[in-house]
Amino acid sequence: MEPKNEPASPDPPVIGPDGLNRALLDSALDCIITMDASGSVTEFNAAAQHVFGYSREEAVGQELASLIIPPAFRERHRQGLRHYLETGEGPVLGRRIEITGVRSDGSEILVELAITVLQVQGKPAFTAYLRDITDRKRGEEAIRRLAAIIESSDDAIISKDLSGIITSWNAAAERLFGYTPEEIIGQPLITLIPPERRDEEPRILERIQRGEPIEHYDTVRRRKDGSLLDISVTVSPVKDQNGQIIGASKIARDITERVRNERRRTAQYAVASLLAGSWSLAEAGPRIIESIAAIGDWVSGSIWLRDKAEESLSCAGTWHQDRPGLADFAETTHATLLTKGHGLPGRVLVSRKPAWIRDVSHDTNFPRTAAAAAANLKGAFAFPLSAEGDVNGVLELFSPEIVEPDNDLLSLVEALGSQIGLFIHRRQMDEELKRQKEAAESANAAKDRFLATLSHELRTPLTPILIWAGGMVNDPSLPPEIDEGLQMICRNVELEARLIDDLLDLTRIARGKLQLHLRKSDAHDLLGHAMEIVRDEISSRQLKLSMELNASNPIVLADESRLQQVFWNLLNNASKFTPGQGAVTVRTSNPQPHALWIEISDTGIGIEPQHLEKIFDAFEQSGTRREGLGLGLAISKAIVEMHRGSIRAFSDGPGKGTKFVIDLQTAA
Ligand code: ADP
Repeated sequence: MEPKNEPASPDPPVIGPDGLNRALLDSALDCIITMDASGSVTEFNAAAQHVFGYSREEAVGQELASLIIPPAFRERHRQGLRHYLETGEGPVLGRRIEITGVRSDGSEILVELAITVLQVQGKPAFTAYLRDITDRKRGEEAIRRLAAIIESSDDAIISKDLSGIITSWNAAAERLFGYTPEEIIGQPLITLIPPERRDEEPRILERIQRGEPIEHYDTVRRRKDGSLLDISVTVSPVKDQNGQIIGASKIARDITERVRNERRRTAQYAVASLLAGSWSLAEAGPRIIESIAAIGDWVSGSIWLRDKAEESLSCAGTWHQDRPGLADFAETTHATLLTKGHGLPGRVLVSRKPAWIRDVSHDTNFPRTAAAAAANLKGAFAFPLSAEGDVNGVLELFSPEIVEPDNDLLSLVEALGSQIGLFIHRRQMDEELKRQKEAAESANAAKDRFLATLSHELRTPLTPILIWAGGMVNDPSLPPEIDEGLQMICRNVELEARLIDDLLDLTRIARGKLQLHLRKSDAHDLLGHAMEIVRDEISSRQLKLSMELNASNPIVLADESRLQQVFWNLLNNASKFTPGQGAVTVRTSNPQPHALWIEISDTGIGIEPQHLEKIFDAFEQSGTRREGLGLGLAISKAIVEMHRGSIRAFSDGPGKGTKFVIDLQTAA
């Protein structure tokens, strides 16, 4: 294929000397305006037309002052011209100045101006070279404003290049990290990162290289003095004019306070829930220390308890991080006993206020110095644990750094100190109560053992007496007074035997040794047998005895002799506590198909309402003491309950009679 002919480039225009001047003027990038001695515009090039918005025709012949100078400066301009014409002095001539100009639409622009003067045919002709610098000025202004914003920002604003070298550093960065711009610019950003977090930086750089911003990333950085700083960082890529990523800007905000407050709140919550639990001090202690240690850079701690009698402090629990030397330090702490004023806890015990040591290895009143130094511990802090206005313990914490507690921490530990103190107090009271209860229980058991032995030993010698005297009674060969004597012996020995039997029963019940031999039994028969035993007594006291055995099902599963013992006891009491001419009534019923109700009531002396419950306790008697040990009802109640029944007493008060009701289940 034939190549096409290239189009011929147009020939340059042919112009004369005037035309050349015109072409030169119009191709100039700057505005060129000339003015004659009268102040009128004689030339107005293309750039001037473009900048000021007047055509050459409009401009030429106009007074320059009224054309492009803002009204406020016009008179000054005219005066300057007059002054030059009179004296030949022109202070602005030949210099570069920045002035305000005004455009045809009235808007103002900033121009850079240089004026030269030439003598043309004996008259001065002025040439002004002007350049519109409004945009440049605006740009510079914007940069200055931005720089001021960056400098006055409370956040650290840092930039770095893609190899992680710091390239700018504002005032807040200096305040936050402690490095001046001279010290840090040109250094790698890694200088600010604690060793254990150094792997963060390559990951950040990688994301920046991909053009991804990283927002609100909470981390820890290191100041020039080595102390750690909690910050929240936003990292954004920085691009050049071509959109190429050339580095990153980093805005870091100090969140030490926020993190500290969060940690304190978390610790408070953790301690409160530990204290609310049912932990013992030994269980809760290390957890409490750990929770409080998390507030700061504490790596170990202990709780000391005060021995009030000895006025000394001993360690009741420790917690420590897994770091060299700390286990040994805890062991030394456990083995240390401190007196008042001795060591850090001893000092707190005396002052009753928090105390701290900047560096324990240089403290003269710190008995554990060697172990602390071996564990690389420096800062120590301790506060009292108190309850009811008294210090009952001390909590101490240690750090490998020098620590100065702030006011906030001091008021926090004041609150924690009294909560923990109260917890210790409650636990100590619980332990004391437990000790007392155990002592009482073992005393009770000893008493039961003693009663069992005693009753047995007392009962044994009675048996041969009863056998012998019982065998002799009613022997017609004996003189009557001897027979009466023998009867008296039998009655009294029987009475004594019954008292001892009651004691034996009671001790058996207390020791869970009473055994029932259950069989289906007719409760009416058992009531009849019991009645037989007390019949003589009742009739000799002229009491009216009524039996209303209405239960159609009186069959119960019972130990017959024990249930009879209960009925006898109630009947015996009814007769014993009812004055002559009174009445004793026995009633039975089946209020429900499987329930048997047995009621033994009398018209006797009655019982005060406040004694109704107590009479079932061993050795309890209502009102003045009478014959008997007050054991019958206690034994009866235990026996009825062993039959899965209940026994209750009712009385309308003294003189109003008494009613006992036994509730049993009938046998199926
Ligand atoms: P004791 O009769 O050996 O004192 P109990 O345990 O049988 O022991 O009775 C305890 C107490 O209950 C009696 O001392 C008496 O004060 C009171 N009591 C028991 N039964 C009656 C009753 N029927 N009327 C009035 N008081 C009674």
